[in-house]
Amino acid sequence: MDHHVYAIPLRNRFRGITVREGVLLHGPAGWGEFCPFRDYDVAECVPWLAAAVEASRDGWPAPVRDSVEVNTTVPVVSPERAHELVAESGCRTAKVKVADPRSSLVDDCARVEAVRDALGPHGAIRVDANAAWDVDTAVAAIAELDRAASGLEYVEQPCESVDELARVRRKVDVRIAADESIRRAEDPLRVAVAGAADVAVLKVAPLGGVRRALEVAEACGLPCVVSSAVESSVGLAAGVALAGALPSLDFACGLGTRSLLGGDVTGNSLCPVDGFLPVPRRAPEPERAADVTADGPTRAWWLDRLARVRALATPA
Ligand SMILES: [Mg+2]
Repeated sequence: MDHHVYAIPLRNRFRGITVREGVLLHGPAGWGEFCPFRDYDVAECVPWLAAAVEASRDGWPAPVRDSVEVNTTVPVVSPERAHELVAESGCRTAKVKVADPRSSLVDDCARVEAVRDALGPHGAIRVDANAAWDVDTAVAAIAELDRAASGLEYVEQPCESVDELARVRRKVDVRIAADESIRRAEDPLRVAVAGAADVAVLKVAPLGGVRRALEVAEACGLPCVVSSAVESSVGLAAGVALAGALPSLDFACGLGTRSLLGGDVTGNSLCPVDGFLPVPRRAPEPERAADVTADGPTRAWWLDRLARVRALATPA
């Protein structure tokens, strides 16, 4: 089996990292990407390997649609820059990062207002708090942000625990989306059972592949949004395959993330055109992987990690 270890610089710091790294695996069905973040322990990496093996060995289920609408993502930037980013994106939906330690609620509202101005009245705005708030802070902030947005589509992961999400959901009129609660929980279905969310955010790699994510979607019974883990276009393709195979898809997906990377492993990048991505049947060939190859200690670290995750995933 071929292994390409890559390192691609990010255009802006994300999750505290400035370089995205991983391994591309090749098999009879094509290419898969294994790129759990460096701080994940070996057990947490097992589903990421399962997703890469599915892509490279088994391929994905047939899609039910040809293209998928995506949102643009607005990081913690000035209102002027936010306006530019949204206008340039061609997307009708924007996801705005809020509740970051570098940004106050006043700043967040100003950014959201600028995004509304750029999108016009028919665009959709969602915000992502990445579990930063407690219940009372969330309820107050959501009211302010909903006003600034002239209506929010949903709020992603306002608080950390499923119980807190359920409490916020009972107190606000804006839809609640569960992201971290779906992907890091032992039981992603608890979110629906607890009445904690209106929307489930699905990510292929942490859920262990497209098929497993489709099972989660069906079992949780919530409308779903597919998001990436900021992979190269090889890993992104799996996310678009999931979005293409979901029986219903009511919201734009968080798969327009190729632009966050300063390079790619292929010349056939999955970049949205007018806010849509075509649904691929397999991942693109990483014919430019050599341009972003990681050597030396980075390569050794990833091959060692891959071996340890394989050993845990397939005990002797
Ligand atoms: Mg999120």
